[in-house]
Amino acid sequence: MTPSLPEMAEIWQQTLNWQPTAQQQVQFQHLYELILEGNRQFNLTRITDPQEFWEKHLWDSLRGIAPQGQFIPSLQKNASVIDIGTGGGFPGVPVRIAAPNCKITLMDSTRKKIIFLEKILSELGLTNAETLIGRAEEIGQQSQYRQTYDLALIRAVGPASVCAEYALPLLKQGGLAVVYRGNWTGDETVALENALKQLGGIIESIEKFTTPLSASTRHCLYLRKVATTPAKFPRAAGIPTQKPL
Ligand code: SAM
Repeated sequence: MTPSLPEMAEIWQQTLNWQPTAQQQVQFQHLYELILEGNRQFNLTRITDPQEFWEKHLWDSLRGIAPQGQFIPSLQKNASVIDIGTGGGFPGVPVRIAAPNCKITLMDSTRKKIIFLEKILSELGLTNAETLIGRAEEIGQQSQYRQTYDLALIRAVGPASVCAEYALPLLKQGGLAVVYRGNWTGDETVALENALKQLGGIIESIEKFTTPLSASTRHCLYLRKVATTPAKFPRAAGIPTQKPL
């Protein structure tokens, strides 16, 4: 039997000024069970302990959408959100559970992960959610996706300038990309600013925080799209990682 996830109501309240409803807690538990089940077929995550899952997959996913400890307001109002390189559904699935008014697209280049995520969405009864199989470099050039999202989330997909090249073309002007990072240095900020100049973005803020159970260091970068991204971005598949901006 799958162990129960901790509730951690006080930590949710203190860190994100939010607490899951009973229904959302049930959905988190169900998600945990489905991920453990999926892990037997696909290598989705090495994080299986309930406390670690709570911190590294649930809390971490939601901390990203709560700069300065408050959920991004547009999430309460039908914001269109894309999770680029979602893998086992992080941060996108916890975000969709916590912000049921948003419309989320879970995108990944690996077909078998997306097929598994379709099962997760259906078993959890999550509407306003769709999946997309493809590479960010290709999807970002397709008119039905380009410049259509209010918010782009991207965790553990590559260096920050690569993440920016994947995310900025997909955002509407004024949209926000959240890049989830572990450590972060001043040198990386300079390189990212240089990439963003070419992509039509700016660094709005960088938040450093420690995770509530294991006290690990994390950073979230909040990138605002302030101008149209030139048509040549994202470059062809593989180029952003081979030759980062
Ligand atoms: N975001 C998830 C998380 O934090 O748990 C998964 C991270 S996993 C390390 C990276 C994921 O990004 C993989 O599922 C991979 O298939 C996907 N990915 C890598 N490059 C991609 C690209 N260019 N376009 C779309 N997905 C990509």
